[in-house]
Amino acid sequence: MPVPKEIFDRIRERVDIVEVVGRYVTLRRAGNGMVGLCPFHQEKTPSFNVVPHKRMFYCFGCGEGGDAIRFVAKLRGISYTEAARELGNEVGIRVEERELSPEEQKRVRARQGLHETMEEAASFYRAVLMVRPEGSPGREYLKKRGITAATVERFRLGYAPSGWTPCLDHLQAKGFTPDTLQRAGLARPSDRGGYDVFRERVMFPILDGQDRVVSFGGRLVAEASADPGGESKAPKYLNGPETDVYSKSSVLFGLTQARSAIQRNDRVLLVEGYFDVISLSQAGFEETVATCGTALTPTHAELVRRLCHNAVALFDADEAGQRAAVRSLPIFADTGIEVLRLQIEGAKDPDEFIQKNGAEAFSKSLERAVPLMEAVIRWTAERFGSTPGGRQRAVEQLGPLIARFPEVARASWTRRVADLFSLPEAAVARQVRSGGAQPVRAADETPASSLSAAPLSREIRHLFWLLVHHGDMAVPRVSLVDPELVSNRLDVRDAVGALLSGSDVARIVAELPQGDLKRLLCEVSAQDGLYEETRVEAAIRHVLAALEEARIRELLAQIHQELSACEPTGDKARSDDLNRRRYALDQRWHEIKAIRRGATS
Ligand SMILES: [Zn+2]
Repeated sequence: MPVPKEIFDRIRERVDIVEVVGRYVTLRRAGNGMVGLCPFHQEKTPSFNVVPHKRMFYCFGCGEGGDAIRFVAKLRGISYTEAARELGNEVGIRVEERELSPEEQKRVRARQGLHETMEEAASFYRAVLMVRPEGSPGREYLKKRGITAATVERFRLGYAPSGWTPCLDHLQAKGFTPDTLQRAGLARPSDRGGYDVFRERVMFPILDGQDRVVSFGGRLVAEASADPGGESKAPKYLNGPETDVYSKSSVLFGLTQARSAIQRNDRVLLVEGYFDVISLSQAGFEETVATCGTALTPTHAELVRRLCHNAVALFDADEAGQRAAVRSLPIFADTGIEVLRLQIEGAKDPDEFIQKNGAEAFSKSLERAVPLMEAVIRWTAERFGSTPGGRQRAVEQLGPLIARFPEVARASWTRRVADLFSLPEAAVARQVRSGGAQPVRAADETPASSLSAAPLSREIRHLFWLLVHHGDMAVPRVSLVDPELVSNRLDVRDAVGALLSGSDVARIVAELPQGDLKRLLCEVSAQDGLYEETRVEAAIRHVLAALEEARIRELLAQIHQELSACEPTGDKARSDDLNRRRYALDQRWHEIKAIRRGATS
């Protein structure tokens, strides 16, 4: 649901970025802004800047930057809109409430109803576990597994008692309708008005990015139980269904509790089960999360990427675990997260390992974790053997995986595979290249976006600095220049255009996708005095001339090429047109030469 941009503008204007950042970072005054230790990377000397008059922050150490909303989103691992909503609440600006059609309002109300239902159900399960007589099987079960009261508290564990309708009765007494309970996945319909889905189970509330209960996982405490649906045995683990507020592919169990530890340790431990998360967390490995009965998705990886750079995957040792590990590899490679794999020895899962061997032994085994890619290379080698045909197939399989890595990592994995299979490196490199070195472009991307790969030059940086800090002088001059002569990158031209039309840099940054341009704009905003006031005028002329000169050279080369392509076909109109453009560019070239001589004297 799109939020009107003006809402974000108003929030940026209303909140005090120094105050918001100051809640998490100790800032001291420096020049026109404030500096402190960056909360997003480990550092001993401050490189984290807040620029109050630009309403932005930027870290020269790790490149993180943006407005107050971005700061809160990044720190708490929530979306931009979610962070805007939180900050908006503080300053009395409602995000999203305006401009909703009656239909949308109805959906919002329905989602709110689901959130309230889940919250109330969590309270009910929790009360049963903590104090009610019918909660004793749950209490005993958790005691047997060595789960402490503090852990129960931390993960808000609960217990779904036996009987057909205790949860249903409780929630209906609170005014929730059977229909809502069914949509929430807590009840199933029956002739007599429905029955509870979760019975005789320890309940694990699953929270979304805003720490709201959106679903439950339930672990049966007895080994078998009757089911009115007719099955003689109920499954050991039961996961809540997807609903209007819950999508398995975008929620990680334990992330709320793990968030700050993940940032602190710059690492996440990925496991498969609820009890793995809880045991590891209780043993001091608080940075542990699990997917909820589903394979890892790019959305999961993105949730983690916002918080850290390293992951350790603890998939089960069986073949399913191996397959899951292989599937997750390209997902991690795409996000740039460094992923290790830890094989648990002598236990079926991390929970059992901790119970048997304790935290210290686990810590030691963590040191033995190997890069997941290395593990995949070894499995592949084992599977296909060392015959020429086997090696061929192995390298064909590994090529596309290696191709997903950034350049340096790609080169070293290529070499590793060549070594292991005793093949020439060039042969492996060919498989890597043919194996899809180019990620498939989304259909809606314009072809011009391939140009965005061109690096941002020093001149572009200076140009942005001048526009941001000395707009009054720079805007009138830059407005006269043909945008095509500023940069071949569309995103750069758009950003320049937005600054020329008076847009706030904080807003431009907020709307840019992650990437070098966003980073550059943040950096430039946080940078003091690139030129002295008196040099600004000359600097503008100089930078524009340098930019234009470089572009004109590029364009002339292009025209030259096209002209020689015209000759054999004799396309007269086309070559006339090209010659006219060449003439104009030549003229401009001479003008610029004159300007540059003037600017540097
Ligand atoms: Zn930083």
